[in-house]
Amino acid sequence: MEIKLRFLGAAQNVTGSRHMLEVNGTRLLVDCGLYQERQFKKRNWEPFDFPASSIDAVLLTHAHLDHCGLVPKLVKEGFKGPIYCTSATTEIARIIMMDSARLQEEDAEYKRKRHEREGRKSPFPYEPLYEMADVEAALPLFKTARYMKPVEIAPGIKATFCEAGHVLGSAVIHICIEQNGETRSVLFSGDLGRPDRPILRDPAEIDEADYILVESTYGDRVHRGRGDIKAEIGEVINATRAAGGNVVVPSFALERSQELLYYLNELLVEDAIPHLMVFLDSPMAGSITKVFKHHPDLFDEEMNEFMANGESPFKFQGLKYTQTANESKAINHIRGTAIIIAGSGMCTGGRVKHHLVNNIERPESTIMFVGYQAIGTLGRRIVEGEEEVRILGEKRQVKAKVVQIQGFSAHADKEELLHWLSSLKNHPKKIFVVHGEAESAKAFGAYLHEKTGWEVAVPEFKDEVVLD
Ligand SMILES: [Zn+2]
Repeated sequence: MEIKLRFLGAAQNVTGSRHMLEVNGTRLLVDCGLYQERQFKKRNWEPFDFPASSIDAVLLTHAHLDHCGLVPKLVKEGFKGPIYCTSATTEIARIIMMDSARLQEEDAEYKRKRHEREGRKSPFPYEPLYEMADVEAALPLFKTARYMKPVEIAPGIKATFCEAGHVLGSAVIHICIEQNGETRSVLFSGDLGRPDRPILRDPAEIDEADYILVESTYGDRVHRGRGDIKAEIGEVINATRAAGGNVVVPSFALERSQELLYYLNELLVEDAIPHLMVFLDSPMAGSITKVFKHHPDLFDEEMNEFMANGESPFKFQGLKYTQTANESKAINHIRGTAIIIAGSGMCTGGRVKHHLVNNIERPESTIMFVGYQAIGTLGRRIVEGEEEVRILGEKRQVKAKVVQIQGFSAHADKEELLHWLSSLKNHPKKIFVVHGEAESAKAFGAYLHEKTGWEVAVPEFKDEVVLD
């Protein structure tokens, strides 16, 4: 048996997921994501390590940009094969890739103008990484893989997509390979969710795999329980209502926004918060919420029961989806307390910046963070308690209350990762820990080896291994 595996992204870092599997003369890419960490962004511009046309098929674990964001570049450079993923991933990836193309186009133009003015030169070309036309060319290549129904990718290669519980449509991909009468399996965890999260089903249990690539975003820590989250959100809302300000929530468009709506609806049903205006002020989050609405088949039991009782977290009294810039601006004129959910999640762009301008200098308002804030972002500066921040070119005093709700993660922590791997009935030949900062990946690798005795490796970027 000879299977070649190459780690072409998310190896000792968290974004830019890309793994190549070469077997029986077929080349597969599992994920083709964009790098988002500042120090690795230049890799997006580097040529692929292979001719794009030499790839026979792409398999996507889910629709986050760091897993699907370079698909349009691959297509632009000549990839014409099928892209397999679940139907919800197809629908969400379309929205995410289009938004990314639009940003790429805007950024290139903006940078060119600014550098021209400042007499500087960029290390990157002043052209978008890809354009809307490349996204449009990629869309017809998407092929639906149904959960738990093996798909024949090539002769002797079958892939099964299993629930990953990370975001809607997310999958753990189990690839089964037959060669000269022997079989082997390689399992890609993609991003693994957590059990008992709202809306989504729990990650599927896996029976067997010879080789496993497992993520390790939070491989060195343990999350808080979910009960606290709802109570904390309720307290923040009630306190802000008493003070007479607004609650501004910078939020990611996929999953986090829908989860927030779920908690808000629960708090309303339980009468734990008063009926207030809630704005989902993000057209992208609105479009993604529509995808949720027509995939009730992917909800967990709790959510389905909720829906069966006529409740919906995506449609409750007071909830408004805003589309146009004018609708967004009109939110400023609301008297009394409103809850404003807007992108981007780390305040690096989007409508949330305008809401921050209108609320950050009001001591009665609250800025409620529900996600991780990366170093160097406006969100991080606010969370770290800076007294003055620059928003849309102007200095603003931070007088609003700043709250960070912990424990909202969509990634399994080290115990949950171990628990998930414990459902294996066989002893895997080797585990590769990927998709984590070097420290986190190594810490999880050591922890896993100590607990199971399995052979564990933490590959480096561009490492290549032959699996037997
Ligand atoms: Zn993800």
